[in-house]
Amino acid sequence: MSSTTPDSRISLGRRAFLQHGALLLTGISAAPLSRLAAAAEAKQRGAVRIGLVTDLHYADKPPAGSRHYRETLAKLKEAKAQFEKDQPDFVVFHGDLIDSGKSLTQEKKHLETIVKAISAMPFPKNYVLGNHCVDQLTKAEFLQGVGQQESYFSFDRGGYHFVVLDSCFKSDGTPYGRHNFKWTDANVPAPELKWLQADLKQTDLPTIIFAHQPLDLKDTDAHAVKNSSEVRKILEASGNVTAVFQGHSHRNKYSEIGGIHYCTMVAMVEGSGLDNNGYSTLDVYPDGSLVLNGFRKQKDYHWS
Ligand SMILES: [Zn+2]
Repeated sequence: MSSTTPDSRISLGRRAFLQHGALLLTGISAAPLSRLAAAAEAKQRGAVRIGLVTDLHYADKPPAGSRHYRETLAKLKEAKAQFEKDQPDFVVFHGDLIDSGKSLTQEKKHLETIVKAISAMPFPKNYVLGNHCVDQLTKAEFLQGVGQQESYFSFDRGGYHFVVLDSCFKSDGTPYGRHNFKWTDANVPAPELKWLQADLKQTDLPTIIFAHQPLDLKDTDAHAVKNSSEVRKILEASGNVTAVFQGHSHRNKYSEIGGIHYCTMVAMVEGSGLDNNGYSTLDVYPDGSLVLNGFRKQKDYHWS
């Protein structure tokens, strides 16, 4: 465990600045660094490195609108090659791993295919549940398919605390599955809120949250977790949460609320061809700085 203290944590409330490329990392070097050199330097500085991929929507079916379901396999292969260069400590899949099939059997096949492709990545993996993951499948079936015990949980790594949230519950607290829900009704139910509050209370470490449905929108927004304001209240009250990474709306978006960075990442499924791919690596530093290196359509961010 590192010697991170509250004083060395990211300074909350400071306005984040956005830039393209990891070439102007304040305090590292005035000279431009190549992405590879910056990656090597990040490792030397003891950062935890995380691979991030969201909204893959893999399905063996023709494209619909801007969603190219089959192409996810090639896009994932590109992300794998990049991650093999950058050597993340772990990878987070931020939900909507699969898209709907004609039958439950077909959806299970989609999951099997994408998990097989993901298993070629030689890194520990964490999965956030997306609404499409548990459209027909039950949570138990999805979790069994990806080899994960829980849908929400936390862990420590390199002086940071990481929390995976599950917002795939109806407003009455029923878990999604077997077509029993509307995608606009996403909630973090009372037992999970209670767990979250207790989990954040037991740590002094700077904390990063991984979610699928956005937590920075108005509760009434179609893409929002319906009780986002309640969740944000808990995150802000802990005083430890520095950033939330999320997917679901498929577009790059950034906001800062109550001193917490909210980053919505671009969907891998959107657009045809590798030029339209999107994924990233996140470096977290002992001094609290966060650097998101976005590839293809994913934007870069540097928060210090
Ligand atoms: Zn999606």
